[in-house]
Amino acid sequence: ANKKIERLVKTTCSYCGVGCQLQLKVTGEQVVGVFFDKSSSNKGHLCAKGQFGWEYIHSEKRLTHPLIRKNGELTEATWDEALDLIQEKFSEALERHGSDAIAGLSSAKITNEENYLFQKFMRSILKTNHIDHCARLCHAASVVGLQASFGSGAMTNTINEILESDVIFVIGANPTEAHPVIGYRIKEAVQKGVKLLVADPRKIELSRYADVFVRQNSGTDIALLNGIAHVIYKEDLWDKEFVDNRTEEFETWVKSIEQYTPEYVADITGIASEDIIAMARVIGQAKKMMILYAMGITQHIHGTGGVLAIANLAMLTGNIGKRGAGVAPLRGQNNVQGACDMGALPNVYPSYRPINEENRKFFESFWETSLPEKPGMTLNEITHAVYNGQIKAMYIVGENPSLSEPNGKHVQEGFDKIDFLVVQDIFLTETAEQADVVLPAASFAEKDGTFTNTERKIQRVRTAVSPPGEAKADWLIFIDLAKRFGQKWSYSTSEDIMKEITQCSPLYREATYDQIEAGLVHWNYPGTETPILHTEKFVRGKGKFHPVEFTKTAAEEPCEDYPLLLTTGRTLHQYHTGTMSRKSKLELLQPEENILVHPNTVSDLSMIDGEIVIVESRRGEIEAKIRCSDKMPQGVVFLTFHYAETPSNILTNDALDPSSKTPELKSCAVKIKKK
Ligand code: SF4
Repeated sequence: ANKKIERLVKTTCSYCGVGCQLQLKVTGEQVVGVFFDKSSSNKGHLCAKGQFGWEYIHSEKRLTHPLIRKNGELTEATWDEALDLIQEKFSEALERHGSDAIAGLSSAKITNEENYLFQKFMRSILKTNHIDHCARLCHAASVVGLQASFGSGAMTNTINEILESDVIFVIGANPTEAHPVIGYRIKEAVQKGVKLLVADPRKIELSRYADVFVRQNSGTDIALLNGIAHVIYKEDLWDKEFVDNRTEEFETWVKSIEQYTPEYVADITGIASEDIIAMARVIGQAKKMMILYAMGITQHIHGTGGVLAIANLAMLTGNIGKRGAGVAPLRGQNNVQGACDMGALPNVYPSYRPINEENRKFFESFWETSLPEKPGMTLNEITHAVYNGQIKAMYIVGENPSLSEPNGKHVQEGFDKIDFLVVQDIFLTETAEQADVVLPAASFAEKDGTFTNTERKIQRVRTAVSPPGEAKADWLIFIDLAKRFGQKWSYSTSEDIMKEITQCSPLYREATYDQIEAGLVHWNYPGTETPILHTEKFVRGKGKFHPVEFTKTAAEEPCEDYPLLLTTGRTLHQYHTGTMSRKSKLELLQPEENILVHPNTVSDLSMIDGEIVIVESRRGEIEAKIRCSDKMPQGVVFLTFHYAETPSNILTNDALDPSSKTPELKSCAVKIKKK
């Protein structure tokens, strides 16, 4: 801690999608701390993860050499041995089973340049569109829903416009834990007099700052949103001019909300009808209202429906295309927006150009090769295909699906059975432990590139220190592998890759490193001057209203055998499957899982606070420590997915939202038993 700081390296936080800028304090080849940086949206603010979560960079557990499984054990190997084996096994799978038997999982933790190269490698060399990444688990429903309503699945406005709103409506998101600097910005706005509305089944921290806080029953968001819209329409608080001039299908939609009276919605949601009316009046009377949401909306079998209902409300009130308003799907990981933008998805090329004949021909000519014709499988479909033996070889980069995918046992059994699995990561994750070849990658502090944050801002990632041992930047590994397959990829720097991206990806046409260095690039559609989307017209032309009906709360509702509802999420001091945060000081702050249960539920179960119990669902069981919390609704329990010792996704349900294929991680039925 007392080491002299030799240099400061400005870069982007490696945790959440807020994309805070920070400066790494560096001495020799050691990062020794973090310094604030006031030049970007975070204005110098950092949460605990940004300040104290960096020590994993120098963890003794970092992967430093390639590993190959020999006689059942992962054994140290040279790069040549590992890459030759990958080339041999993927070529064999291609020859014997065809390209449909190969899949790749890209990462929201690698740079834009690396995501671009990975999807190019999978498409142009392995000839498969079976490519996906963790956006499937979080905001795929936003991409489908907002694209249908507006023409683009992205956050419509920028983070700091929160301070210019009249009303902020947070539904199905817990920003103070999952997007902490945005949580801070919301509190700052409230202090300035901005009104805050919060709808969440749990008593989240922001509820303390809210003008109106309601606790809807889990899975009833569509009914609540339709109910608010019903009141706004009936009380004539809607924006007629905006609806008439800029939208379509309004009349059909209005008929669909007729039945959602406050009393009808109160029955479904458990919220008093007066509170529904109060919320609607605050929203209807605001000139600028911003809706912020996250996985409380999307991780349901009706995730896309929830997103469409949010878009309907924003259009009804004219809150699109102007400052201080808009719809903000809060992206979870640091580069999940960029991974989508780069086409690490099964149905689109970079810049969301759909896989069709015209775009395929463009990329065939641009990459000088042939490309597969059909769109590929999504993440959950891929893990099922692995289990069923259809996928024979898979390449996973920087993701840990053995812990992060729902119905985890099924996923792990699939990876045990697959013919050939490659995992590229900075640590030997639970998924890497199942691999045939493990490749050691560089962390964000050891490479150059860019990340794109939740507000579409493209920001630099800069090399501060060298990777440990023989670890290499992911983009260098992709180039080495491409060479093994006879391709001459001649990129010398990450900037070379970005130059190629600017030529084939219209959303990134202005993303030169000079512009990005200057902090200037929020991507937007050609012909638009401002970072705000849909200003003069929607990306799709007119905004489209979609009727959305509330049908049921979840695929699996509590019953006699499994009487409790389990919901899952994140906490402030840990992150995702804990691969990074648990190898830093953050581990001291939150070293173990607690299952949060309402005190009355604990007492009904004749259990006590601190007791170790068994939590069981139809898919498996885990042990966890009970923590009484009056922030939970009665009958609902909460687990994170941060701890391998308490792998909550053994319990969760892989039922999918049919439109986005996002699984229902927010709701499944469990019981708690004495150990
Ligand atoms: Fe990093 Fe997100 Fe915290 Fe900012 S809010 S410091 S991006 S984890």
